Order: sequence, then C-alpha cells, then structure tokens
Amino acid sequence: MQATQKPIPILDMEPEINALWDEVNAAIQGVLRSGQFIMGPEVKAFETEVAAYLGCKHAIGVNSGTDALVIGLRAMDIGPGDEVITTPFTFFATAEAISMVGATPVFVDIDPLTFNLDVSKIVVTPKTKAIIPVHIFGQGVDMDPVLALAKQHNLKVLEDVAQAFSGDYKGKKLGTLGDIGAFSFFPSKNLGAYGDGGLITTNDDALAETCRMLRVHGAKKKYYNEVVGYNSRLDSIQAAILRVKLPKIEEASAGRRRVADLYRELLKDVPGVNLPFEADYNRHVYHQYTIKVPNRDAVQQALEAEGISTMVYYPVPCHQLPIYKGLGYQLPLAEQAAAEVLSLPIWPTMAQEIQERVVQALKQALQ
Ligand SMILES: *Cc1c(COP(=O)(O)O)cnc(C)c1O
Repeated sequence: MQATQKPIPILDMEPEINALWDEVNAAIQGVLRSGQFIMGPEVKAFETEVAAYLGCKHAIGVNSGTDALVIGLRAMDIGPGDEVITTPFTFFATAEAISMVGATPVFVDIDPLTFNLDVSKIVVTPKTKAIIPVHIFGQGVDMDPVLALAKQHNLKVLEDVAQAFSGDYKGKKLGTLGDIGAFSFFPSKNLGAYGDGGLITTNDDALAETCRMLRVHGAKKKYYNEVVGYNSRLDSIQAAILRVKLPKIEEASAGRRRVADLYRELLKDVPGVNLPFEADYNRHVYHQYTIKVPNRDAVQQALEAEGISTMVYYPVPCHQLPIYKGLGYQLPLAEQAAAEVLSLPIWPTMAQEIQERVVQALKQALQ
C-alpha cells in the first residue's frame, strides 16, 4: 500500500455521522431532557412514521432484528414440532430464531444469481408452518410464488428484511408483503441505529397485538401477564436517532444504487469477475455489493495488502454450521456461493476515486 493512501473500510460511517452530528445530538438530548427512556413518545412517533413510510398498518419497535424474528414466529404460534422453511445463505440469526422458538429449520437451496432462496425447490410437508424468505444483500426475494405457495398450503410468511430496508418488490416495500416483516437497525444495516434495534411490521391486527404483548413480558396490561414473553423494546434514544435518519433513507438508497451502477461500469470487462444480478421485479438497495471471483481467499488477501477491506458473507452456509450439520443437508449452490462470494466496500456517499482504487486493486489481484 502506498504510504499516502488511507485504508478503505468495507463501510465508512464517518461521513454520515458528520453530516448528522447536530441533529443526532439534539435528538439524544431531547430524550435525556424528557426522562422517558423506555417506550416513550419517541418510540411511538418512530413507529407511526416508519409504518407510513413502508406503507403498512402496524410497526412495532423491538430490541433487535433477531428479536423481531423470534417474536414474529411466536406470534404466529410456531414452536416445537413445527418446520420453518428458509435459506441456508443468510446470517445465522434467521435459523437461530427458528431454533429459539423450538421449531426446526428446513433449508432450501438458493438461486445462484440472486443468492436468495429458490422458491421452486420448496417441498411442503404436513409439519411445515411457515416460510422465512430473506432479502439477502438488499435484493428482494421473488415474493409472488412464495405468497402463492403459502396460500395454497396455509403457511405463514415472515420476511427477514434485516438487509433490505427501503427495497421494494413490484413497487411495494419489502417487509409489507408477507404476514410479518422483521427488520434490524444494527448500525451497519441500511437504516442503522447507533446501537441495537429492530422492528416488526404487519397489516394483521391480531398479530400486531400479540407482538406488542410479547415485547413487554407477555402482558397487554401491565402486571397482568398472560404468557411468557420477552423484555424487547426499541430503546427511546435509538428511536429518536432513527427519526433523524428515516427521512434520509431514500437518498441513502439512491446513493448505494449509484455506487453499484459505477461498480458495474468499472468492472464490466474485468475477466473472472461475476457481477451482482439485479432481478427486474425489485429495487435492489445494495446492503452489500457482492461479486463472485475465482480463488476468492487469495483475492481477498491481495486486497487486504492494498489496504482494502472486503468481507465474505457468508463463509459457511447455515446447514454446514456445527449445530445444523447433523440434519444432513447437501445444498450445492449455497455451498458454491459460500466459496466464491466477496463483498466489496459500499456506502451511500462512497466517492468515485475510492471505487476506482478498489477496482484497480481487484484487477491486479485477479491477474
Ligand atoms: C443482521 C441480521 C439479522 C439480525 O439482526 P440483529 O439486529 O443483529 O439481531 C437477522 N437476519 C439477517 C439476514 C441479518 O442480516
């Protein structure tokens, strides 16, 4: 690496925090002054605003994306003896949530173009209760066939939207198509808090009521607890911060798409690079810009030596993790993706010169 060149992180959060510094500080101080730290007016206001943005009836703030998945599954009455279909090519939390409620994950191989679960490979059994499509890397799953299959077999659909806030499918926001949407506000997600946070969305009044009850120890009325629930609220300070960031999300997603377009242009004739596919039914919001390359580990090391951080999401598909290995799955397309994928640096305001440096180093690494 040339001494004058700054290392390039996979995600640079500094431009965002610099731009929002005064507004975020004012929001935090507002909560401190109000003294309402748990479920105060900021949480309510954020829930109202985010539901209006997404175009859904209910939005319920929780402590994390993982909790949104767990509470969503519980609200759908999924538990021991039930099977839930999902993709192996996701962050562990998706499968973990299924296991946490006592159900069994059933892994279906992926479409190697979109990295999303291949709906045509789903096999429904009498034990199947739900499907969790994961909109991986910011690209929507082809939802119409998922919803048709769910309708045919009377299954619930829980969208894992942790990586795809503000993405859409045929003009509708992801997370509003199934019975429930589960979002994460982990700081590096497209809409990130400055700490943990999550959200459940639904258009179903009964599911919403159950989720609201489960997030506060299973009580609709305080101290009249009905079921064993969770302590899982969206923190008021995080809600206030998210209220600052929500109005800027369209601009941020447009920025990510602009960065993706330039990568596509710069990389289009580079031999060996397999570019991300963008399905025409969705607006991809590029949580990650994930390419496929030969000799992936060597390429990653060569980039690291040039001061360029990349990530492998995910080196081990869920079905090959120790706790699920015993289920005996062989899912060759997910396994192949895990061996070839490389996520390049991307953030909404990434400058062209920085992208050019990444591409230059990648070309060298591939030679
Ligand atoms: C980040 C993530 C989660 C978990 O969200 P947390 O807020 O970290 O609990 C779940 N699913 C996917 C696909 C994710 O990327």
